[in-house]
Amino acid sequence: MAFSASSSFPSDAPFAASAYSPPEWAEGVLRAVPRNGRLAIANLPTPIHKIFPSSRPNANGVGSSLLQRLRDLDITLLVKRDDMTAGVELGGNKVRKLEFLLADALAGGYDSVVTIGGEQSNHCRATAAACRMVGLEPHLILRTKRANDVHAGKEDFGCTGNILFDRMVGSKIYLCTPGEYGRAGSRALVERLARYISSESSESGSSKPYQIPVGGSNGLGTWGYINAVNEIMSQTKPSTDSGIALHHVVFACGSGGTATGITLGMALAHGACGSRTLQSVSTPKVHAIGVCDNPDYFYKTVAEIADEMGLTLPDFLQCDTTETFIRQHLTAHQGKGLGYASSTQEELDFVTNFALETGIALDPVYSGKALYHFMTHILEEDPEEYRGKNVLFWHTGGALGLYDKVQDLSDMMGGVSPVQRLDIYGKDSDGSMASI
Ligand SMILES: *Cc1c(COP(=O)(O)O)cnc(C)c1O
Repeated sequence: MAFSASSSFPSDAPFAASAYSPPEWAEGVLRAVPRNGRLAIANLPTPIHKIFPSSRPNANGVGSSLLQRLRDLDITLLVKRDDMTAGVELGGNKVRKLEFLLADALAGGYDSVVTIGGEQSNHCRATAAACRMVGLEPHLILRTKRANDVHAGKEDFGCTGNILFDRMVGSKIYLCTPGEYGRAGSRALVERLARYISSESSESGSSKPYQIPVGGSNGLGTWGYINAVNEIMSQTKPSTDSGIALHHVVFACGSGGTATGITLGMALAHGACGSRTLQSVSTPKVHAIGVCDNPDYFYKTVAEIADEMGLTLPDFLQCDTTETFIRQHLTAHQGKGLGYASSTQEELDFVTNFALETGIALDPVYSGKALYHFMTHILEEDPEEYRGKNVLFWHTGGALGLYDKVQDLSDMMGGVSPVQRLDIYGKDSDGSMASI
C-alpha cells in the first residue's frame, strides 16, 4: 500500500516524482540526465557538524586518541551527516540514489524491485523500506556464508541489524553463497531472479520487477551524489567571504556510486570542465577509502559509472580516457583492513572512542573503517600535508551494522560505560544514596 493523502497536508508529494534539473555545472558534461524525475524521500539537506576546533569542552578526550592527534595538527574536522538522511529503516547514503532509481521504476510502471547485497546490506534494507513507501514489492538477494545452513534448517536466518528491517517490511529474501555471487556476478543474479519473478512459474505476486544493481551504483542512482555535491556547495559557499573552503573530502567506498558522484560533482562544481569557473577557489581533494577490492579496481569502476552518466569531457582537457580524468580528481585508498565486513580490534576501538568523544556512531563496515584508515594515513604517512586544513568526512550511515559486531563490542563496553546497581537501600556501601 502506498502512502497517499488527498489534502495538501500531510502532503503525498514526496511519494510522487517531481521534475529534476541538474546543477548548471553539470549541464552538457553529464549528458545522461535523469528523465523520470526524483522522489523526495530523503530528509535534505543533511547538516554539517564541526567536530573541532569546537567551543565545547573536550571532557571526553582520551589523551592520545587518534582524534586528539588530529586536533593537534590544527585540522578542522567537519562531518556531513548523511547518516541523517532519513529514519533508521531508510537512512544513510543509499536513499539519495533511491530518489532517482525508484522515480524511474514508478515511471516505467514496474510493480516490484530486485536488488542484491551482503547479508548486512544497508542498500538492501533502505531499498526495501523505500519500496514499501511508494508501493513496490521488494525482492532481496543476500550473500551469506550461512545460505546453505539456513536452507537446511540448521540455522535461523535471524533478525540481526539490517535484517530485522528487511524482514519487518516484508521483503522476499533469497540467499546465495559468496562463491555463487563471485562466480555468477551480482548483475547476472539480479537479472536471473527478475526473469524468474516475471515468469509464470513464480508465485511471488510480482510481475514486472525493476532491477537495481549492488549499492544502487549505476549511472542513474549516482545522480543522488551529484545532487548531494550541489547541496554541499550551497551549504559551504566556498566562493564567498563567509563560506568555507573544503581542502579534503573523504568517505567510504564500496560499490563506487558515492565516489563517482562526489568526484565528478566536486570537479565540475569547481570548474574542471570550464562550464562554471570558480578560479578563486581550489577544488577539494577527494579521497575514497575502499572497504573491499583495491584502488585500481575503484578507478576503473568509477570511470565506468561516469561513462554511464554520459560524461563528455571538453577536448581542451586532453584526457584520452575517462579513467585519466578520474585519476586526476580522485585518490582511492586501500582501507579494507582484514577484508569486507571484517573488523580489527583497532577499528572497533576507534569506532567506540569516536562515539565517546563526539556522540556520533560510525559503523564498522564503512564509515568507521574509512575514517580510521584515513586518520592513520594522515598521521603515519603525511601529517604536514594536512596541517591546518579543512577536512570534511562524509558520514554515509550504516549504524545498524554495529549489531553484527555486538559480541566484539560488548567486551569493550565495560571499560567505557560501567554499569552498577542503583544503591537505594545502602546495602553495598556507607556512601550510598540511602543516607542522602
Ligand atoms: C553502501 C555504503 C557505502 C558505500 O557507498 P557506495 O556508493 O556503495 O560506494 C558507504 N557507507 C555506507 C554506510 C554504506 O551503506
